Formats: sequence, C-alpha cells, structure tokens
Amino acid sequence: MTIHTRITDLIGNTPLIRLNSVTAGVRATIAVKVEYLNPGGSSKDRIAERIIDAAERSGELKPGGVIVEPTSGNTGVGLALIAQQRGYRMIAVMQDKISQDKRDVLSAYGAEVVVTPSGLDPEDPESYYSVARRLADAIPGGYMPNQYANPNGPESHYRTTGPEIWRDAEGRVTHFVAGIGTGGTITGTGRYLKEVSGGAVTVIGADPEGSVFSSGQGHIHPFLVEGAGKEEVPEVYDPSVVDRIVAVPDDASFEMTRRLAREEGLLVGGSSGMAVAAAIRYARERDLDEDQLMVVLLPDSGRGYMSKIFNDDWMRAHGFGDVVERTSAPAL
Ligand code: PMP
Repeated sequence: MTIHTRITDLIGNTPLIRLNSVTAGVRATIAVKVEYLNPGGSSKDRIAERIIDAAERSGELKPGGVIVEPTSGNTGVGLALIAQQRGYRMIAVMQDKISQDKRDVLSAYGAEVVVTPSGLDPEDPESYYSVARRLADAIPGGYMPNQYANPNGPESHYRTTGPEIWRDAEGRVTHFVAGIGTGGTITGTGRYLKEVSGGAVTVIGADPEGSVFSSGQGHIHPFLVEGAGKEEVPEVYDPSVVDRIVAVPDDASFEMTRRLAREEGLLVGGSSGMAVAAAIRYARERDLDEDQLMVVLLPDSGRGYMSKIFNDDWMRAHGFGDVVERTSAPAL
C-alpha cells in the first residue's frame, strides 16, 4: 500500500516533460518542470514549507502562532496549506485589485483575508505591505515570512528544485530558464545547477518587458504578466547566478501560454508562457543543437487566469493576438 500521511508530503518531485509542438524548428530538447503539480498548485509550496520549518526552528513562529503575509496568491496558498496542517492561523493581506476568485481560494483553505487599497507606495501606512507588517507586530504570536527578503526561499530551491532537475535529467541539463519575481527560484536552482555542473549550466532569466531585471531603473513600464517581473530588485535575488536575461513582451507570453494549453496539454499561467517563449528565443538565437537540454520551470496553473489569458474578450480588449474564434457546433 502507498498511502501518504498528509497532502504536504507531496510537495516537490514534480516531473520534467518534453515539449513537442511549440518547439518546432528548435533542435535542442526543451523540457518543462511542471510546478502546478505541487499540492497547492505552484512552486510556492516549496518555499512556504521551508520558510515555516526555519521559523519554527528559530523560535520566530511558536505553536499557536499567526502567519501574516502580504501576497497576491501562490505564496498565500502555500502558506495557508502549511498553516492548516500545523495548526497556525494564517492571514493573507491582499490588494483590492486581486480578483475575488483568488481571495476565495485562500478562504477555502482556511486563511483569513484582509483587503487593502491597491496602487499605494509600499511605505504608505495603508499599503498591503505596511498593513501586514503592522498586523504581524500587533497580533500576539504574529510572524511575517516576507518572501522577498527571506533566504529560506532560494534555499528551498537550492535543496529541492535544483537537485530534482539534475537527478531527472541525469546530469545532462545544459540550460536552465525561469522567470524572476522574488528571484528565489532562479537564485536557488541556478546556484545549485552551476555548482553541481562545475559551471557548465547556463542560467537564463525570463522577464516581462518593462520590468526592472531587463529594463533597468528608468525604463520601467507596466506589464500584465503576473508573478514575474518587478519595479525594484528584491533582496533574495542574486544576479551573479544569472548569465543572461531575456525580455519577453506580454503578447508573446500570452500567445505561448495559450499554445501550451492547446498543443501540449499544459494549462499553465502567463509567467510559464513567458519562460517558454524566452527559452525558444534563446535556442533559436544561439542555434542550440541536439546535444543541448534546456529545462524551463513553469511556476503555476492556468486555472487562476481563466478570466484573463484564456478569455478571448479580455485578450482582444488588451490588443493581444492569437485569439482563436470559437467555432459553434454545426446546426443539425
Ligand atoms: N510566476 C508566478 C506565477 C509566480 O507566482 C512567481 C512567484 N512570485 C514567479 C513566477 C517567480 O518566482 P520567484 O518569486 O521564485 O522568482
């Protein structure tokens, strides 16, 4: 019998799957690491588990404590899952621009949701960051993980994501591609793969056009990909691990996201389409051959984006292409 003790035992060990259709004309093998197969539906389950483990060990989080995090989704779900399993109260502080669906997911897992106004400077006392900080300080037993500055985020990827890729690819991986949000994924996974390969793995960051990692301060403009891309460089991001940044415009990211669902059976989020688009562009530019194996990390599922990327009206309203007209069933 194989009966797992609890759902959180299934965090990690996500599979590598080869892309077969969207990569037409590319000679290198491109394999994706499908993180929506984590129990909470994203790569953030990994960081939630390690951050809470570390906070318990250090005494920052005590039995019966309260986890408070400013989050828009995936990290909140990961933390809510761990909180529920271990008997902590969890409060997610979210901006009012976040969809009702995302708030409902967190409530469904038992988290409490506090909503704050969107678009405020982080230093503003009413910003979601300030409100979370204040709640964590004011509530007895309060603890704020702060994923943007917590070294256990990248550490979780150094200890799990990197070794899994190396093991499953039997040491043949030559390139690793990931989007950058907090920078935890690329910093931890990239560092591990560089160390274990003696520097042979090239690490490529995918960034929405307009974000700070590819544009630099002064050339920042808004973008619609969620999760990846920032206006300021977060503390946990280590640029020395990254060899090259590829900027991807929103239309290319969303077009690829839709193709991944339709052609590869992978219903993933917009930052996943962005990472795959970056990998393909890099492989074409460098004319990578059959001996090269690129691994691209896909952070989350497309289920959270049904009213955006997978909604034809939303795509049209934002001027994005690749909207396939729905064919109605023939009248009999
Ligand atoms: N894509 C999505 C959908 C995410 O939620 C995140 C994490 N915020 C990322 C990409 C980027 O991962 P990281 O924070 O590890 O850089």
